Amino acid sequence: MRYAMAIDTKKCVGCADCVVACQTENNVPVGYCRDWITETVDGSYPNLEIELRSERCNHCENAPCVRCCPTGASQIAEGGIVFVEHDECIGCGACIESCPYEARYVHPDGYVDKCTFCMHRVTEGKDPACVAVCPTKCMYFGDIDDPNSEISKMLATRKQKTLAPEAGTDPHIFYLT
Ligand code: SF4
Ligand code: SF4
Ligand code: SF4
Ligand code: SF4
Repeated sequence: MRYAMAIDTKKCVGCADCVVACQTENNVPVGYCRDWITETVDGSYPNLEIELRSERCNHCENAPCVRCCPTGASQIAEGGIVFVEHDECIGCGACIESCPYEARYVHPDGYVDKCTFCMHRVTEGKDPACVAVCPTKCMYFGDIDDPNSEISKMLATRKQKTLAPEAGTDPHIFYLT
């Protein structure tokens, strides 16, 4: 089993409902976030192309944040979900430095936090909170080892990209373009 997320950039409207849902679901402190919206503009006027992306931890297959963690607090759960065991985190910040996606932040209580793919929901068979609330249904979450999953079918039929592939982290957030 290998969990992944695919986000359709053609359908994302940048509403940030996914950000608010994550903050609520995961008790993210005010002023912090586990996911965020990025806007990139390509081309030149009047032929501008705007891409809106909902971004978060990429749950990398080759995760530098896990390798560099001195206490073992950064771990990989079943299905490839990268998470931080808060009680084992000493807040050294090595994982933050190693992440090419700026996906982690220091929680005011002193440990490092980030997207967990909403493990607590996924183990109950639910979609992550951000996926569940998206009003345009542009986010797909599931098992990419299962060729019959919705996400596998989307990835088999649509053009896609990952962010910073040159970093060699093998990210598992895919953007449908
Ligand atoms: Fe885009 Fe959906 Fe997030 Fe809105 S909720 S910003 S449409 S991914
Ligand atoms: Fe680690 Fe960053 Fe990759 Fe997430 S995106 S698994 S925090 S390196
Ligand atoms: Fe590990 Fe915490 Fe240090 Fe990150 S801040 S490398 S999770 S001990
Ligand atoms: Fe937040 Fe869960 Fe979405 Fe990750 S999967 S960004 S933790 S709501």
